[in-house]
Amino acid sequence: MPAGSRNIQENNGFSTRSVRTAEKKFSAFGATVVPIVQSSAFGYEDVEGWLKVALKENDGYIYTRNTNPTVRAFEEKLMALEGAEDAVSFSSGMAAITSTLLGLMKSGDRVVSVKDLYGGTFLFITQFLPRYGIKATICNTTDFDSIEKEIINGADIVYLESPTNPTLKIIDLSRFIKAAHRIGAIAVVDNTFATPINQNPIGLGADIVIHSATKFLGGHGDVMGGIACGKRKLISEIFHFKEIAGPCLDPHAAFLLMRGMKTLELRVKHQNATAQTIAEFLSERKEIQQVFYPGLKSHPYHRIARKQMRGFGGVLSFEVKGGVKAASRLIENLKIVSRAANLGAVETLAGLPSTTSHVECTPEERLMAGIPEGLVRYSVGIENLEDLLNDLTQALQKARIT
Ligand SMILES: *Cc1c(COP(=O)(O)O)cnc(C)c1O
Repeated sequence: MPAGSRNIQENNGFSTRSVRTAEKKFSAFGATVVPIVQSSAFGYEDVEGWLKVALKENDGYIYTRNTNPTVRAFEEKLMALEGAEDAVSFSSGMAAITSTLLGLMKSGDRVVSVKDLYGGTFLFITQFLPRYGIKATICNTTDFDSIEKEIINGADIVYLESPTNPTLKIIDLSRFIKAAHRIGAIAVVDNTFATPINQNPIGLGADIVIHSATKFLGGHGDVMGGIACGKRKLISEIFHFKEIAGPCLDPHAAFLLMRGMKTLELRVKHQNATAQTIAEFLSERKEIQQVFYPGLKSHPYHRIARKQMRGFGGVLSFEVKGGVKAASRLIENLKIVSRAANLGAVETLAGLPSTTSHVECTPEERLMAGIPEGLVRYSVGIENLEDLLNDLTQALQKARIT
């Protein structure tokens, strides 16, 4: 078993945890599913009882911007999947990321990260944090020695993402988490692409793990959400920022996210297998310049991926020969695909990073992050493999520049 799975406290499998955790505790009227507690506030008959909850001396709920039973059940499910002490949820993945950074940092601090971040995260760290006097050092994603050097030079937060979006680079998580801890910095990992089924950064030493729940956790492309989990003391600081700033998860969204999470392991294992076969298939095609997928033996960091992951995920990307024109023609000819800026859903999704995740970056910034203009990001859904392969075959033939 990889180191990433060792620290999970519960002995049950992932599906048992995602189906069972928090259900009884947050049930009402004998319902077998956690109900949607669609209430902004929670009332008390006696002022003293109310005060005890408000002062956090007793468990309970006050106001849904702070927390809510349905929202808490979602957080407890994710804690069980990531092996985390505590968790706090948000209205989106970006709300989780920005609240984590703003909740833990102050003017004069320094964050060390890498170029291949999710587009929104990259812009937040490089454009907004410096306005508040927080220094941002962005390293070359694959230059492991210089990342380590920058961390040792002084960091308060080391912010990592692996696999990266959209070129599926792999970062040696335990190496940089160790470097962060050597100088007393907090190690944060965005685990959205891997999902808790494939990778548990807390088992590798991470202090905080973040997910865009919009993606694989929800898994059906119908709800937005985000979550940060990890060390209790840090989560309570992030929680405090959230309850004041206000980017809270809606109870109805929490319900949809939990419904999705119950099938997370089934979906992700299926998506791992389909993505692997499609990556191998595309690697053999003459229309394709290169395929990016950590499950390929030819991936430069396949060995590190094997060390820290149990599966390689449902997202791959590939460069079509003929650049952005050929890539556009290819995805326009796909029949079993939604051309949309999402990933991790039951439906297969394809997009050009230059028009989706990295649309706000300049072509130079994209080039700097190693994103070819003709790159296609392909997020495998749960449709049947044969159908997806046939679909790709016919679209590749049509896209060929003759
Ligand atoms: C989508 C995504 C985010 C942002 O999440 P939203 O829910 O869209 O705000 C952050 N990180 C990664 C890796 C993502 O894929």
